[in-house]
Amino acid sequence: MKKVEPKVYLIAETSLIKENLERMLSDHADKIGKDWYDSTLPTASSQGEYLIEVAGRMCYESYGVGLNPNVTKIRGASKEYLENILKKGDGSILEHATCTFAFINVSRVFTHELVRHRAGTAISQESLRYVRPKELSLWLPPEMKDEKEFVELIETIETKYKNLEKKYDWDKMDFTLKKTLTSALRRILPDGMATNMIWTANHRTIRHVITMRTSEYAEVEIRKVFDEVASQMKTRYPLIYQDLERTSLPDGTGSWKPKHVKV
Ligand SMILES: Cc1cc2nc3c(=O)[nH]c(=O)nc-3n(C[C@H](O)[C@H](O)[C@H](O)COP(=O)(O)OP(=O)(O)OC[C@H]3O[C@@H](n4cnc5c(N)ncnc54)[C@H](O)[C@@H]3O)c2cc1C
Repeated sequence: MKKVEPKVYLIAETSLIKENLERMLSDHADKIGKDWYDSTLPTASSQGEYLIEVAGRMCYESYGVGLNPNVTKIRGASKEYLENILKKGDGSILEHATCTFAFINVSRVFTHELVRHRAGTAISQESLRYVRPKELSLWLPPEMKDEKEFVELIETIETKYKNLEKKYDWDKMDFTLKKTLTSALRRILPDGMATNMIWTANHRTIRHVITMRTSEYAEVEIRKVFDEVASQMKTRYPLIYQDLERTSLPDGTGSWKPKHVKV
């Protein structure tokens, strides 16, 4: 058995096509749109947040005073603008930008819980029908760190799995049979076995999942992972996560609570 740690990699995020955005704002919102672009883009905190702000301002034509006769003043600073969006619960514009994470060495306990979040997600999960594990990797939950019996039990499962696996002549099989047998054998393997997932979600969803899954009542592994996700999001997207605050929990993980719950 190999002891592993769950890992979080942010591997992709929404980016702007700046020249097209500039052209759109100039064409559609005249000089006011172009001036807004020129004055705000150089200091934008992230491209994802900038896109969200563009989408929000499109709704009321609020890139500046004069485009929409009903608008007599605008919130200038992006921090203030997005704070108001969070306060009002106008979260739909947060759906325009996404992040893609690789969650490596997470258990099937973790993946089973994460896939319950349906809205605004895309999921690709390691297929344990296709992938026959070379060894049994596992993250030890804190409660089992010093529990010898737990490790022995996992090692027994691994040994017995390997013994059964050896009974079959894998090199002589076609891929369909390999897949069928791999799938049959995986039923022996524990839920705690480490696996991998690519998870894409929009920022409205990421805020929601962070809140639900770093709750003190959530399972420790998913809390550990989403504590890390929240830290990364707060650093990389300081405006749209500005109201999230972390409280340390006794097990070393953190619980993140937003000031504005319904976004
Ligand atoms: C601490 C904890 C304990 C849990 N324990 C259990 C348990 O014992 N058993 C169990 O089965 N599950 C359990 N769950 C899972 C939970 O019930 C949800 O299925 C899971 O958290 C997904 O969240 P969500 O429903 O907000 O869905 P998401 O897909 O994350 O949706 C986000 C939001 O979009 C809206 N939405 C999404 N889909 C729809 C829809 N079809 N119709 C209307 N509105 C929609 C809702 O407002 C929803 O809150 C637990 C979750 C947590 C965090």
